[in-house]
Amino acid sequence: MQILRADAMGMCFGVRDALAATEQVEQPDQVTMHGELVHNGEVLARLDARGFRRSPERARAVPATPAVLITAHGVSDRERARLAAAGKQILDTTCPLVRRAHEAAQLLEREGRRVVVIGRAEHVEVRGIVEDLQRPVVVAGPEQVQRWPEARLGVVCQTTTPDERVAATFAAIRAANPHADVRLIDTVCNPTKARGRALEELLPRVDALVVVGGRDSNNTRKLAERGRARGVPTCHVESERELVPGWFEGRRAVGLTAGTSTLPETIERVHRWLCLLAATAPVRAS
Ligand code: SF4
Repeated sequence: MQILRADAMGMCFGVRDALAATEQVEQPDQVTMHGELVHNGEVLARLDARGFRRSPERARAVPATPAVLITAHGVSDRERARLAAAGKQILDTTCPLVRRAHEAAQLLEREGRRVVVIGRAEHVEVRGIVEDLQRPVVVAGPEQVQRWPEARLGVVCQTTTPDERVAATFAAIRAANPHADVRLIDTVCNPTKARGRALEELLPRVDALVVVGGRDSNNTRKLAERGRARGVPTCHVESERELVPGWFEGRRAVGLTAGTSTLPETIERVHRWLCLLAATAPVRAS
């Protein structure tokens, strides 16, 4: 059994920089993380162990600690102002590419467009974008697109949306709103695009795929969905502990990829487990 790694995978610079910022915090028990820093149970357990407080993702109460850490997923300007007005020290680790998505949405609104966000309405990043807009609409994909009465529409995307979903949804928006002037600003981030492209190159070369990352991680789930959609048996795991030797029986080439919130050491542990299995499981003769 061969193990083939995707050329681009795992932790992006946005999550890495946010984690590095937490390392600089001297009194973690005085800081509340506003929502999950990353959708990765292993990382969250480490932060909990250091003493960081966490507010639930949909919490509206102002945290009790003197400092609040805004995660890489960002918050709305409105929420940032609310925290500042409450006298909180704000440690802002918003990814610059999330910030770019906010700015794009606000630019489109200033152009007199109703903003349509392609993404998951319940995701913390999308909530942050739409909270600063007048009459936004969120659509998860082409199936949720409608005809809207506005003559001008502006479209942005959750940063971790797969390219093909953006293309299909944008095409559906144009088809359903032929009367409207529709402008798309593609706000999918480059790390997400690079991981998608690397997976596309990998899929024709493997007969099974392992995707490593948190179950709540949007982009990790999308990588697994992409593998399954292409007919490649796909196993989504958070760590090597979830791998089952029997699942790999008879596989000739197994692909390995990981979401943007997955720690490098978690990927390496999964890779080592697979290599060990490959060394002890001979390929069946065809
Ligand atoms: S996935 Fe993209 S937008 Fe999100 S933190 Fe990483 S680089 Fe930034």
